Amino acid sequence: MKLETLAIHAGRAVDSGSGAVAASPVLSTTFERGTDGNYPHGHIYTRASNPTRAALEQCLAVLEQGAAATAFPSGSAASMAVFQALAPGDHVLAPDDMYHGTRTQLRDLLHRWGLEYSVVDMTDLDAVRAALRPHTRLVWVETPSNPLLKVSDIAALAQLARTGGARCVVDNTFATPVLQQPLTLGADLVMHSTTKYLGGHSDLLGGAVITREDDAFFARVRDFQAKAGAVPAPFDCWLLQRSIATLPYRVRAQAANAQRVAEFLAAQPRVAAVHYPGLAGHPDHALAVSQMRSGGAMLSFQVHGGRDEALAVSARVKLFTRATSLGGVESLIEHRASVEGPYSTTPENLLRVSVGLEHADDLIADLHQALV
Ligand SMILES: *Cc1c(COP(=O)(O)O)cnc(C)c1O
Repeated sequence: MKLETLAIHAGRAVDSGSGAVAASPVLSTTFERGTDGNYPHGHIYTRASNPTRAALEQCLAVLEQGAAATAFPSGSAASMAVFQALAPGDHVLAPDDMYHGTRTQLRDLLHRWGLEYSVVDMTDLDAVRAALRPHTRLVWVETPSNPLLKVSDIAALAQLARTGGARCVVDNTFATPVLQQPLTLGADLVMHSTTKYLGGHSDLLGGAVITREDDAFFARVRDFQAKAGAVPAPFDCWLLQRSIATLPYRVRAQAANAQRVAEFLAAQPRVAAVHYPGLAGHPDHALAVSQMRSGGAMLSFQVHGGRDEALAVSARVKLFTRATSLGGVESLIEHRASVEGPYSTTPENLLRVSVGLEHADDLIADLHQALV
């Protein structure tokens, strides 16, 4: 079945007890044992498993065409679970342009724990080949990347990782399974901040890891739920699965809006550069066309000038909200360097935009008046 159908039906069924069509969250932390001491419904305690979380995980696995999924209380908990499934002394190869929080985990938390890492431009396959070390066990890929929207070749990177004895993990937060399904391109694992497009309404935090094979490595990732306690609340799982039903339509409409906004920005004299893989002039456009179903709904642009000129544009918008995060129905604009802090390598004249579901004409009119 197609993604639109799966987003509505995977992990969902009419409740056999009540006939309820819409699911309700199972908030219970504990489940009754049978007279023989067994657990007739398969659940013991909500940290170990919960029916609402299990339904969400089934849905996530199906959407990414994986064997299994594990839901986490945030994207950050999901990436930590993947990193900590490695062993101290292992090396992680990561992209030079990536979500700053993931890089912070590697630098501030995991380095101290004995995990080595280095960064490389993942759009340059020769550089990746040269950067692999004998003890590289994980190649972390983020495409399109945050905030420069660089696109890297998932199939080629997965192949390079495998040849080097490493796993390939793709942070698929920006693209979502609507635009690309990394497991079908050879990646071993997919990670999501479900806080973004999958949640889609800026009202829940969540994360997920989906695996191509339900193997020993994934069992260690999953251990971070039951053993380390990194579990999302049943209510958040329910809210997330409710939002996923409309994911394909939201992402497609947001991406169509973003294409129009990017084309508008590219023609503005005050704009020095637009980073959007859907534009023909983007350096990775050809790869984006073959790997993704569209350019996505995230873009960034640089204005002529520096920090002050960029902040002045973001101060003049009326419809866009100045806020961090992305993937919600409402459009957001953000001066990225100032939120990333002192280690940021993001240009000071760059604004990142998460394009929402408003009408593109209204979004363009707002940017037009802000760019005067
Ligand atoms: C937001 C984000 C994360 C972190 O997810 P949280 O849910 O905020 O913990 C990781 N990767 C990307 C690409 C993100 O945008």
